Amino acid sequence: CGVFGVYGHPEAAALTALGLHALQHRGQEAAGIVTYDGQQFHIERHIGLVGDNFAKPAVMARLKGNRAIGHTRYATTGGQVLRNVQPMFAEFHGGGFAVAHNGNLTNALTLQRQLQLRGSIFQSTSDTETVIHLAATSSKGPLVDRFIDALRQVEGAYAFVALSDKKLIGVRDPLGVRPLVLGDVDGCFVLASETCALDIIGGTVIREIEPGEMVVITDEGLESIRPFAEASSRFCIFEYVYFARPDSIFGGTSVYTVRKRIGQELAREAPVDADVVIPVPDSGNPAAMGFAEAAGLPFDLGIIRNHYVGRTFIQPTDAIRHMGVKLKHNPNRSVIEGKRVILVDDSIVRGTTSQKIVQMVRDAGALEVHMRIASPPTVDPCFYGVDTPEKAKLIAARMSLDELAAYINVDSLAFLSIDGLYRAVGNASRNRNAPQFCDACFTGEYPTRLTDRALAGGGR
Ligand code: 5GP
Ligand code: SF4
Ligand code: MG
Repeated sequence: CGVFGVYGHPEAAALTALGLHALQHRGQEAAGIVTYDGQQFHIERHIGLVGDNFAKPAVMARLKGNRAIGHTRYATTGGQVLRNVQPMFAEFHGGGFAVAHNGNLTNALTLQRQLQLRGSIFQSTSDTETVIHLAATSSKGPLVDRFIDALRQVEGAYAFVALSDKKLIGVRDPLGVRPLVLGDVDGCFVLASETCALDIIGGTVIREIEPGEMVVITDEGLESIRPFAEASSRFCIFEYVYFARPDSIFGGTSVYTVRKRIGQELAREAPVDADVVIPVPDSGNPAAMGFAEAAGLPFDLGIIRNHYVGRTFIQPTDAIRHMGVKLKHNPNRSVIEGKRVILVDDSIVRGTTSQKIVQMVRDAGALEVHMRIASPPTVDPCFYGVDTPEKAKLIAARMSLDELAAYINVDSLAFLSIDGLYRAVGNASRNRNAPQFCDACFTGEYPTRLTDRALAGGGR
């Protein structure tokens, strides 16, 4: 998901809509904005794209006030119904509280059951609501203390932005798995999942919210709080591989630069004699450029993507995903025919995309097809807010490299090594005793407890 917040700007709702539009890649199912006008909260939550709902004058006119938070939703827990769309809002004793969450909590169901036994009535199946109930039932007094009390009970990954009648709050989980940056627009504080959301509004980046840091923004300015025990950062390495926009910057390095380096590493690790390097667009583009550069081979756009189809992976049902892939890509015969082709994509999840693309490229007259993947095999699900399916559906968890190569029908197949990935993000290698990133979907080493996993139906 994508989250955004702004404090004290006369165009708060419009800036939030723009910010969410720049974060659309983080979630395409639904979006919502909550504003506060000094008297009242205003809430607009809609299924669909940001631009389809938050460009409407009637909708925007209802979002009065100079403080706002927003959310673009990509469902990882909870069904696809309006009740689950964020920001979530509750009336607390003492005022309203709106919350937008990127990430996924790994003990939300366990906590939810306990809360329900004590009388809490849940309106949604979203893990985010658990935090609201924990804050509501906290024995602490002030809202910030209640929120901290709630967060100390949750496990998993989160970047939250929250809005009360006096405060805009931003917080990252102690490991900093999901991103959150602090920026400035016209002298007002802004919070956003990625720097691209600051670019779109003409804002500047101040710094990243640090892992385990909470910032509380009021009329008096910004206060930084450290509510949790110190821990080493475990930022999601997959943000660099796929999830974030290439023009965003994390830790001082652009995602685009990392993706190109990934391609260079891949070319060094798994070279192959061929005529042309072709990306699976758009996610494979920078890695393919890096690969071609390092291999000294021409780069060409051999697959053309229709931009009016959403990310195939995010379409919820298998049937639609199958249709989506066909709708989305078309081979460019003029650069493929009679060539030995290296295809570069960011990842293989179910294997559907690769299988179809390879067939497409063969049908367009390729002599050989070699597949190079810009990440290690995805062998375990993500429990932290990226919607990888259960392990049984992850093709690389079920097949050996050779079996997978045969299944997708390529002449050769190689994945980037985990150390190659760490080199690309700027580390000499992965520290096996204390990994510098979360890489659980590639290694199975989850950096937090997974309490809900033990519950029936409570996890993947
Ligand atoms: P597959 O067809 O193997 O299931 O999906 C692989 C494709 O899905 C890749 O091209 C990748 O760009 C895209 N993709 C979209 N969303 C995700 C995601 O959340 N995780 C992963 N690993 N790939 C994704
Ligand atoms: Fe990111 Fe993978 Fe960790 Fe999920 S499991 S947070 S996708 S690195
Ligand atoms: Mg892709």
